Amino acid sequence: MRPMPPADMIEDVAIRFEPADEIISWARASFIEEDADLMNEDHAHLRSATIGALWTNVPNGRHGRRIIGQAEMGLPPGSKWSRARVEFQLQQWFGCVPDFVLTFDAEYCSVCSDVAFAALVEHELLHCGQARDPYGAPRFRKDGRPSFALRAHDFEGFVSIAARYGIVESGVQELVEALKKKPLFTAEEVGFCCGTCEARKAA
Ligand SMILES: [Zn+2]
Repeated sequence: MRPMPPADMIEDVAIRFEPADEIISWARASFIEEDADLMNEDHAHLRSATIGALWTNVPNGRHGRRIIGQAEMGLPPGSKWSRARVEFQLQQWFGCVPDFVLTFDAEYCSVCSDVAFAALVEHELLHCGQARDPYGAPRFRKDGRPSFALRAHDFEGFVSIAARYGIVESGVQELVEALKKKPLFTAEEVGFCCGTCEARKAA
């Protein structure tokens, strides 16, 4: 059973952000853990990551395209007070500052298909990467945990999304190549737009 946003959230005119721990438990059981139903090895480093998820009813878009998901580092860059304010809010929601924070559009997620929701969550999880050294080897912190970093679509792991869901993402040749293979799921096209991708395109 996939997680669903609170029913009263979508019609609410007030700004709402609500922690969605159920998305992360579901994602771990579905994609991340070693015994996950649809385990994807590209998420293996996330077994030791803390991830916070939020539902929101705030519409988001860019250049006429609707944005329905976004992945960020837990604590974004900024001034001391900006960061402290974010840290305060994250503590209220999650009891910690997670390594990553994912945000999902409640309205879209309440009406999309199960496959589209799974593809969206996996897409955002793939942005949650492990930092690499200049030779391409994964980086670790002194305490042995992976050193985390956001990653863009040029990461080859995004190919696994196309292989699993058959998503068409224009301008990415590897994805097109992956689409020539038989997808794990039905080749349903999922035309969603992600805030993390759009921010990177603009940068
Ligand atoms: Zn994206």
